[in-house]
Amino acid sequence: MTTNLSDVTDPKNLSREDIAQLPKVVLHDHLDGGLRAATIVELAEAAGYGKLPTTDPEELEHWFVEAANSGSLPKYLETFDHTTAVMQTAEAIMRVTAEAVVDLAADNVVYAELRFAPEQHQSKGLSLQDIVDAAVAGCQQGEAQAAQQGKQITVRLILCAMRHTDRSVEIAQLTIDNHTPDGYVAGFDIAGPEDGFPPSRHHEAFDMLRRNHVPFTIHAGEAAGRDSLESAVYEGAQRIGHGARVYEDFSADLDGIQAGRLSSYIRDRRTPLELCPTSNVHTGVVDDLADHPFALLDTMHFAVTVNTDNRLVSGTTMTQEMAVLVEQFNYDLDGLFNVTQNAIEQAFIPQDLREEILNDQIIPGFEKVAGIESDEPEPEATQGRLTQEELDAIDPALLEELGIDPKDFL
Ligand SMILES: [Zn+2]
Repeated sequence: MTTNLSDVTDPKNLSREDIAQLPKVVLHDHLDGGLRAATIVELAEAAGYGKLPTTDPEELEHWFVEAANSGSLPKYLETFDHTTAVMQTAEAIMRVTAEAVVDLAADNVVYAELRFAPEQHQSKGLSLQDIVDAAVAGCQQGEAQAAQQGKQITVRLILCAMRHTDRSVEIAQLTIDNHTPDGYVAGFDIAGPEDGFPPSRHHEAFDMLRRNHVPFTIHAGEAAGRDSLESAVYEGAQRIGHGARVYEDFSADLDGIQAGRLSSYIRDRRTPLELCPTSNVHTGVVDDLADHPFALLDTMHFAVTVNTDNRLVSGTTMTQEMAVLVEQFNYDLDGLFNVTQNAIEQAFIPQDLREEILNDQIIPGFEKVAGIESDEPEPEATQGRLTQEELDAIDPALLEELGIDPKDFL
């Protein structure tokens, strides 16, 4: 980007309102961890699900955050029993997906990858394909509703296999069957309890995805450490879900902190880390936000991205996660822009769409908050047209050989 935003806006002057206005990209957001509390209550009633701790939406919202803030990943994962319980019909999945898209768009998220595990939505007999179809319909509905509210958002889905079950090959095939360059299913992941269930357990699934050129991310370096990360890298993860514990591969000497072989590889291949600071505190990866390695990893040139993980369960939003970077680590507008650019550059979408979102939404949005006027009006569409100068640069003999009349391109 041409403008140095940090010259314009000091982090101390970056208000919550400014941060809320910024265009955002979220790569790691669980559909079943981000429901509206009021929707859970309504869906539970409709489904005859009587196990909610309370049917008061406000109390329920607090209950989720408290239960999740227990410092243990298994306890945190228990909260998902309630959310998945109310997402067992196509209508419910569609509604939850559409609402997630609308809520993210309201927070000025311009690109989101929502992930969920289809295998957890089959208790009332839906097929895996029915479930994917319902989520895709929800994405489309959500994008359309957001557009009506003046918010442009592009959404994709990541299909997760649960790492403690044995359905990853099936879910990998489901992902391959539904993956097209401009379709809604963009990639694959494994989710659920990390400790004791290493990526290598799902080797066959990753092998199939690699052979079919379908991208995938792997949760690693959250509840388990270096070995889990090593296994994720070995299996060919294009991104790493969390990866916060990559610091376990560091050493310190008189020259400072040094990355080891594994962490250097992750950094130097620019393998993005889908870091989720608030969630990492809740699951006990770090004791508090000030201890989070986000800024250290950024300073060491890892491709860091900031994410929500679970908006309801972690009690957060993308605005909140960016505010953490500003308030805890003194990020300025330039720093937030770099994190956002890292994310869009590693989105599981075609390059031309990434560039379109970066150039048409992210850069102008940051410039607006920085108080930089977009000086030039958008140029007229010139696709397929050449300037006289460009035309002069082409060898006339080549044009003649190809039978092209240069005037057709002016
Ligand atoms: Zn996650």
